[in-house]
Amino acid sequence: MKTTALFAILTSIAFADHAAPGISPDAALAKLMAGNARYAKGNVAHPHQSEDRRAEVAKGQKPFAIVVGCSDSRTSPELVFDQGLGDVFVTRLAGSIVDDAALGSIEYGVEHLGASVIVVLGHERCGAVDAAMKGGKLPGKIGAVVKPILPAVKAVQKSATPTLDAAIDENARRTAAGLADRSEILEGHVKAGKLKIVAARYDLDSGRVTLVK
Ligand SMILES: [Zn+2]
Repeated sequence: MKTTALFAILTSIAFADHAAPGISPDAALAKLMAGNARYAKGNVAHPHQSEDRRAEVAKGQKPFAIVVGCSDSRTSPELVFDQGLGDVFVTRLAGSIVDDAALGSIEYGVEHLGASVIVVLGHERCGAVDAAMKGGKLPGKIGAVVKPILPAVKAVQKSATPTLDAAIDENARRTAAGLADRSEILEGHVKAGKLKIVAARYDLDSGRVTLVK
């Protein structure tokens, strides 16, 4: 193989796997929140959903954000943040939990694709958090969903506001705070100022996402 051909192949692999320098963590978060503001007002732009965009991202992706969402059918990140193809890298498990496979997916989205913000998105009336609050035996593998939510629920149940809303916020907060603790890759990007991790809450009624402090 000629050197030039080899170089072309290596370059295309590099471009497919490694993002170009992306936007800053603050700009990425602002972009998501601006999209949610459009969505909540019913003023959606539906960006990046054209045939041209499909063709562009077929060559490679460089999502600017990662959303760690709930499987709940009412909380689709691309919809609630008014984004399109190639914009948002998503993991979704009930209760917005992050198991090891989800954590590996998130690491890939940061390390190889260049996403600069992670939003752990809890939501109003989350059935998984509600199940964790109610306790009791659950059929099949549903217990595996509830188990990682229990520490947040227990903390809230001992607090002055032992409500489902408080548990939803606490679960998102703890999940977000735990990501860098669980992952050296994520911790390194945070320390380098290349990554921001935040918790947020989606209101099913208003469509608004608010950051959970
Ligand atoms: Zn949920």
